[in-house]
Amino acid sequence: MERHAPYLRRCIELSLRAREKGNMPFGSLLAVDGRIVLEGENTNSSEGHPFGHSEMNVLREACQRLSPGELQRAALYTAVEPCLMCCGAMLHSGVRHLVFGCTTKALLERTQPYPFIESQRVFELLGVSVTLEWLDMEAEVLKAHEGFWNS
Ligand SMILES: [Zn+2]
Repeated sequence: MERHAPYLRRCIELSLRAREKGNMPFGSLLAVDGRIVLEGENTNSSEGHPFGHSEMNVLREACQRLSPGELQRAALYTAVEPCLMCCGAMLHSGVRHLVFGCTTKALLERTQPYPFIESQRVFELLGVSVTLEWLDMEAEVLKAHEGFWNS
């Protein structure tokens, strides 16, 4: 599991970069065979619509640039557990490996109420086999959110 930590730390950096641009502090990346091929950050505010989740941005570009084989071998790393929409995007993209550093539940305890279903439950309901790994980096991830939601 520790091998995932550098990728998740990069996601946290991307979260902070998003925040600096006035967006929500979320960042993601895609690695194929351990090599980072794409990075993304939240663009909700800068692009003016609510679909700009970092996972969506990464997966959209991945589908345009990577082969089906690469997508199949890819791992989506994201600082915070993805929402329902982004789990759906994973389903459609063919990416079947997800790693995150903080649960949505932990984040929501510090933010505003938001409807969510745990990623694992989403994939179970969909009957999709996804390798899901959660590396507990909650404290580091939530640091990027300090003062953002309830300031
Ligand atoms: Zn999302």
